[in-house]
Amino acid sequence: DARVAGIAASIRVIPDFPKPGIMFQDITTLLLDPNAFRDTIDLFVERYKDQGITVVAGVEARGFIFGPPIALAIGAKFVPLRKPKKLPGEVISEEYSLEYGTDKIEMHVGAVEASDRALVVDDLIATGGTLCAAVKLLERVGAKVVECACVIELPELKGRDKLGDRPVFVLVKAD
Ligand code: 5GP
Repeated sequence: DARVAGIAASIRVIPDFPKPGIMFQDITTLLLDPNAFRDTIDLFVERYKDQGITVVAGVEARGFIFGPPIALAIGAKFVPLRKPKKLPGEVISEEYSLEYGTDKIEMHVGAVEASDRALVVDDLIATGGTLCAAVKLLERVGAKVVECACVIELPELKGRDKLGDRPVFVLVKAD
């Protein structure tokens, strides 16, 4: 799709952030470009509008930027998957490993039901640990995860392998 080149060009790469050796993919410059931002949302909406998706689950924090406009456009509910101790109601949580140590994401009990068909949205898949934890939260309550959608993939890190047979759709592959 011709729109993908414009989206890729709008993403800024910042070397050595947040630490030396990391080439950080910065999507804030995509958000500064209304055409690129609209094209990003449109491409996801075109893909998911007729798939019977009932919930878009966005991963904190940048999944909160891309998830809600997709959810509104396809007529699905939006559910935030948050860092620990942010959600006020009863939660279930899923731990995942980082390079050093572990982290957790949480989801409100009752937000997603066994009958739901889910799309998980984040800005970027690197090792796949974050998306894998997100998928597990949804599957624990019986929902069907139709697909995971990200703007950017770092294919060298083989994050897809961690997700087994759950499909991952990305717009831009970064090297
Ligand atoms: P993973 O769990 O797949 O290793 O890492 C993905 C998570 O880390 C995502 O939530 C994503 O927002 C964040 N992340 C890791 N590297 C980058 C990056 O270069 N750019 C952005 N925007 N997010 C990143």
